[in-house]
Amino acid sequence: MDRGGDVRSPPFVYARPESSDEAATAARAGALALAGGTDALVLLRLGLARAQGVLDLKPLGWREIEVKSGGVLELGALATMAEIASSALVREGVQTLALVCGRVATPQIRNVATLGGNLLQAPRCPYYRGGFACMRTPGGAGCPPQDQGGDARHLGIFPGACVAAHPSDVAVVLVALGAGVVTTRRTIAVEELHRAPDGPADTILEPGELVTKVLVPMSAGTSAYARVADRASFAFALAAAAVRLKTRQGRIADVRIALGGLAPRPIRARAAEDALTGADPADRAALDRAADAALDGARPLPGAEYKLQLARVLVVRAIEDAARSEAG
Ligand SMILES: Cc1cc2nc3c(=O)[nH]c(=O)nc-3n(C[C@H](O)[C@H](O)[C@H](O)COP(=O)(O)OP(=O)(O)OC[C@H]3O[C@@H](n4cnc5c(N)ncnc54)[C@H](O)[C@@H]3O)c2cc1C
Repeated sequence: MDRGGDVRSPPFVYARPESSDEAATAARAGALALAGGTDALVLLRLGLARAQGVLDLKPLGWREIEVKSGGVLELGALATMAEIASSALVREGVQTLALVCGRVATPQIRNVATLGGNLLQAPRCPYYRGGFACMRTPGGAGCPPQDQGGDARHLGIFPGACVAAHPSDVAVVLVALGAGVVTTRRTIAVEELHRAPDGPADTILEPGELVTKVLVPMSAGTSAYARVADRASFAFALAAAAVRLKTRQGRIADVRIALGGLAPRPIRARAAEDALTGADPADRAALDRAADAALDGARPLPGAEYKLQLARVLVVRAIEDAARSEAG
């Protein structure tokens, strides 16, 4: 029976590499890396990822969770959300990371979704995933909500060629924690990993470059993460803020702030950090000024204006929560 298949199509390959080198070679040849598969398989099915085959990373291991010398927490890229959330080392060393991994998605997804896959998942833009052609889709161009108007409620609010909202909660927390990713080629600060897209690429990873582990400094201060979504479970953040801070003599001596759900990549809010340094964490006016600085430059499309105030509140809440943990 003719099922309409193209007999000239090359075979679709399922590869199970035995070494990092073998994996890197297969990835360079065009195979799509498959970790938990909770997003990669969806993208293949939607035709948003084009590949000659898939490269199952699981035989490589890459699941360790260890504390290394110098107080660095090392997490294998294939450690699952559930493993990280329940790890005593993570809970004791970087509690905010354990908490966020324990809250993303649903228990079923957390059992298979991996750290690397979470950082590298594609955006949840309803246009991109909903069949519209855009700069991210194969052969597409432009940005439909900006070019044609439409529903912007779930989109980012900072101007750019693409206004998708970055989906990973974990990436936002890792930016605030000053974490890095180790790849098959180099080490990259998580803050530098994602790029403001002008085409299909969300990250600065080269074709075939694989993430092998994530390094999180455990040393300085306390941290907190505040997010709001349509539901507590099974829903991506509409807006989120992560903060890591250190106080000295009642003043904020060192602070990192990252925002999520507001742009195609996590945003490091440096102006807010500057506004906060030297402030008393109990000084609500100083916290409000920092929140305003964090949102400076945002230009929401019609329908997404609510995210401005939501994000301001979350920045203040995350600073207060982090300061409270330090005091406690
Ligand atoms: C209903 C639902 C709700 C969700 N809610 C949330 C949420 O609230 N917050 C949140 O943060 N996430 C959420 N997620 C996302 C979920 O956590 C991701 O689907 C998941 O983390 C992806 O992990 P994975 O291991 O399945 O990645 P995969 O699907 O296997 O891979 C994702 C992408 O990363 C690439 N990749 C994977 N691992 C590597 C590697 N080591 N090196 C290089 N490339 C790699 C793949 O090629 C693919 O492009 C949700 C998902 C669903 C389906």
